[in-house]
This record gives sequence, C-alpha cells and structure tokens, in this order.
Amino acid sequence: MKHNYADIKEEVIKLGEIVLDETVAQMKEAETIAEYNEIKVLKAFNTCNVSERHFMETTGYGYNDDGRDTLELLFSTIFGTQDALVRPSLVSGTNALYIALSALTVPYDEILSPVGKPYDTLEKVIGSVETACSLKENLVRYRQVDFKGDEIDFEKIKSSISDKTKLVIIQRSKGYDERPSLSVQQMGELMAFIKGIKSDIICLVDNCYGEFVDIVEPSEVGADVIVGSLIKNAGGFLAHGGGYIAGRKDLIERCANRLTAPGLGKEVGANHGLLRDMYRGLYIAPTVVLAAVKTAIFASGMFTKLGFTVNPPVRNNSDIITSIRLGSREGIVSFCESIQAASPIDSFVTPEPYAMPGYSDEVIMAAGTFIQGSSIELSADAPIREPYDVYLQGSITFTGGKYAIMKTISDMIEKDIIDRKKVRKILEEA
Ligand SMILES: *Cc1c(COP(=O)(O)O)cnc(C)c1O
Repeated sequence: MKHNYADIKEEVIKLGEIVLDETVAQMKEAETIAEYNEIKVLKAFNTCNVSERHFMETTGYGYNDDGRDTLELLFSTIFGTQDALVRPSLVSGTNALYIALSALTVPYDEILSPVGKPYDTLEKVIGSVETACSLKENLVRYRQVDFKGDEIDFEKIKSSISDKTKLVIIQRSKGYDERPSLSVQQMGELMAFIKGIKSDIICLVDNCYGEFVDIVEPSEVGADVIVGSLIKNAGGFLAHGGGYIAGRKDLIERCANRLTAPGLGKEVGANHGLLRDMYRGLYIAPTVVLAAVKTAIFASGMFTKLGFTVNPPVRNNSDIITSIRLGSREGIVSFCESIQAASPIDSFVTPEPYAMPGYSDEVIMAAGTFIQGSSIELSADAPIREPYDVYLQGSITFTGGKYAIMKTISDMIEKDIIDRKKVRKILEEA
C-alpha cells in the first residue's frame, strides 16, 4: 500500500505494521464500543426531537432558551440521569467540579476521596493549598484514602466514613498520578460498598476523559452526579468550551442555584450562539473518542515493543490517557517536540519546559489544537521529574495520532535517544 510517511524511518513504519497486526482485537473492541455509543447518542437526538431552531442564539437573561434546555435533556438522556446542567458558562471541568462540590456541601460537611489525591487543579478548590473561596475556607473538610499499591483500600475507606461524610468524589481517570484509572465496573462496586456503609452519601464521579470510552457511564452504576469538561471527550473537539454536571434532579437544582443564583437556577443563562457546536460536538464525540482510544492502543503497543513501561499496560476502558516512562529529560522533550510538530495548529512552535503555577516541577506541554487546552485533541505533557513519565492523550483522527506516534519514535532514533540497532533487532525477531 502506498503511503507518504517520507519523514518516518522505514523501521518505524514496519514496527507500526506489526503493532497494528497485534492489536486487531483491541481495536475491534474499541470500534464496537464506539458503534454502540454512536447509536445511543443518535437515538437520544431522535427522542429529544433536536431541531434546527435549537441552534438559535439567545441573549440577555436567556429566558425560554429551548436550545439550552434541550441540550441539557440530551445529556441526561445519554447519561441516564434525571437532569443535567450543560453550559458554556461552566468554564471547564475544574469549574464544573467546584460548582458541584460547593453546591452539594454546607459548613462542617466532609468530602472523602476514596481513590487518592484528586486532579492537580482541585487542590486549591479543596483548600489543601490555602486559597480564597476554597471549600476549606467555607469550613468544608476533606479527607482522602490512598490506594494500597494498585488496589482500592476498602478497609480504610470504611473506617474513614462518619456521619459527617456528605459526599465522596471518585476520579475515574488517574490524571497525572501513578495510580491506575478506574473502570466503570470498579466504580460501581466502590459506590455500592460506600452506600452500604452510609446510604445517603452523595457519590460524585469526576468523569473527565472517561465519556464514551465504555458502553456504560458511572451514572448508570450508582453515581448520583457525574461531572466533565467539554474540551475533553463530551465536547467532541467542536464545543468551544464548557462543562457539564449530570445527575439527580435535587442535586442538579442546587448546582444550578450555585451557578446562577438561588431563585434563578436553570431558568437563566443565554447561549450566545454557542449551541450548534455543542450539539455537533456531542454528536461526533463517540467517533472522536474512538480515534483517541485507537491512538492510545497504538502508542501503548509501539512503546511496549520498544521496551518502555506504559500505563495502563492493558486498557480497561477507563479513559483515553497513556503514560509512557521515557526515563529521561531528553526523551520527554523530544517526545513533546515531535507531537507539537505533528499537529495541525502551531506545528512551528517548539515546546519548552517551564514553571507553571500550582506545579512543583517544571512542566512541558505539546498541544497544537483548534480549541485552546483541548485535550481530546492530540496532546502530551510531562512534569520534568523522575521517573520521567510523559502523558499522552487525544487525537481527533486515528491517522493523525498514528503518524504523530511514529514521528516521536523516528525522531528519537534520529537523536540517538532510542537505539536504532535495537529497533532493527526487534524487527528481525518479529
Ligand atoms: C482535565 C481534568 C480535570 C479538569 O478539567 P479542565 O477542563 O482542564 O478544567 C479534572 N479532573 C480530571 C480527572 C481531568 O482529567
């Protein structure tokens, strides 16, 4: 078959063909999941009678915004929840999580994370790092139970739950942590365990990076609320931004009151002409997530073959992230440079490690994306510290993702970060 990978070394192209052969079953499973989800989304569009008029702009208060209300109905139909809040005014996943956590707690309540440290941007939300308007400032306390190795520490969770425990926050994706990401089934078991101890605990799942990776969502296995970002999976790379909170009606009402004002709730919030792209993004999301999952499968296969440790070693349909232990600063920098160079936007830019607010080490990020910070699009980032793991996620097409991965490896061979002889040996033995 003819290709035009002129800038990729012949050995890498051959290795790519081998990895594609070896991952046929995994790719097929991903396609089956995506097909299921695409039809699920289509059926929801049908039952919600989505129509051209729903894309119309509203201004000012946004009263009677049928497009906004129908988009929210769509999300709750797809996720199997009683209600949903889906707004461009939810700036991002972090903002949606903050709104939900602060709306669902009152002073002296306790929030428990049974799966270790939450995502970096939540530290200031919780108040682990003293910050104005944090939950801690509002006298909401936070506890966490870490993983015991790679296992959830059920015993410790049991002893950490008290009458004060109002809400548990379960983060599906490992984010930039070393613990494993959770499958929907694992979260279901965990939530059943927790409700067995105290039945009125609110189970909130941070679903970022997880939407449409499996055929069930956490809201279908016991989560009272799920929260996510529209510059990740559920925005399908077309939403200009935003976030969602979906779940039990009484809880969504509280979140809406927190977002707008008590007494206004979901009734206000103009869409400013952003709805068409939110609808389009949701519609295409299962297909875009498939491209990201296939890219993850390919990247894992390639780097495993080259002898690197990747996480997850075997995908469990939890999220779209792959971390690769490159083991050196040069490796990480080269990897990110190649990802940037293989992106449609800003390919001429050279990413460099820099000190970022909230991080203790320098961080390097590659993201040549249509939407700023959109990590459903191909992107990579890494803190510059031992053990030198790089985190890879996204890609809106598989061809683009596959090409970028081959380019990272080809460029690392060129710079002698990966030994060309070793690659040849792998090929001979294959
Ligand atoms: C990305 C992410 C967030 C924050 O979402 P933003 O849209 O970047 O604010 C929170 N939790 C997890 C697990 C994430 O991956």
